[in-house]
Amino acid sequence: MPDQRENFRQIVRELETRLRVLASFGVRMIEQPKLEQEESTVSTTQTLVEKQLRPAGQSDYRFGDGRRAKLEQAARLQVADQQPIPQAADSGIRKQTGFFQTSEPQIETSQTGWQPNPLSPQEAQAKLDNLREEIGDCSRCRLAKQRNKIVFGEGNPVARLVFAGEGPGRDEDRSGRPFVGRAGQLLDRIIAAMGFGREEIYICNVVKCRPPDNRTPQDDEMRTCGLFLTKQLEIMRPQIIVALGATAAKYLIGTDRPMGKLRGHFFEHPSGARIMPTYHPAYLLRNPAAKKLVWDDVQKVMAKLARPVEEV
Ligand code: SF4
Repeated sequence: MPDQRENFRQIVRELETRLRVLASFGVRMIEQPKLEQEESTVSTTQTLVEKQLRPAGQSDYRFGDGRRAKLEQAARLQVADQQPIPQAADSGIRKQTGFFQTSEPQIETSQTGWQPNPLSPQEAQAKLDNLREEIGDCSRCRLAKQRNKIVFGEGNPVARLVFAGEGPGRDEDRSGRPFVGRAGQLLDRIIAAMGFGREEIYICNVVKCRPPDNRTPQDDEMRTCGLFLTKQLEIMRPQIIVALGATAAKYLIGTDRPMGKLRGHFFEHPSGARIMPTYHPAYLLRNPAAKKLVWDDVQKVMAKLARPVEEV
């Protein structure tokens, strides 16, 4: 009995922590799903949890070592991720010729192309350092003229999760680090709400120099500098790339479709990674109501990352 009380306290503590993080991220309300959906999800969740907790050969299991709450959460995310992914016609996404890619953007069906990075963190970091040296004091496009610092990117060199924005802003241009302004602080809270530290993931941009007056990077600038991003992704081999904002999504997915039509779906990247487009944190600062949509998107990312590598 004392064990059960301690387990219950532990669950409450974890729930409180989770809610505090969500509140700091700006989530004020979690919608109640439709009853029919909820019942079927709960039942599938219970099956998944019981499968993992029940000792082999036993028809029942004891409320045990505090893992149940965590497993239930992981299972719920897994169940959510297993909901049918709408096909292009259903979701209103018109497949179209890629903007930079030669093939059409594809909504994912299963992730068969991704393989875990064979490089050690040290090996990957050395390759990233070489790439940074190769970029040098770059003047390959017009963005070089007004920049202060090249913002290469930072984080875990073998991250399974990469966040890619369109380009540095004023604070990033001054510091040489990605996403450090107000939008970056919001991104930090999103990352924390996902259960990660900034050092566990990687953050970068399509273009590495600040466009004047924070204008949108132009197509030729993205084509030129995007080659460096491609090399970064080849080295890091992330499982999932979160494309922050329509411009990053346009480059990575190869489509001009608005974010409202793209977000919430995984797309295929030639590297084998999956791309989840979602709203840019700067957009969220102007439109706080969209935070709930971003939270929905990152939950799908968390569900995919929670699966064992051999099942992705
Ligand atoms: S944006 Fe990229 S390609 Fe253009 S100058 Fe900067 S580093 Fe070079």
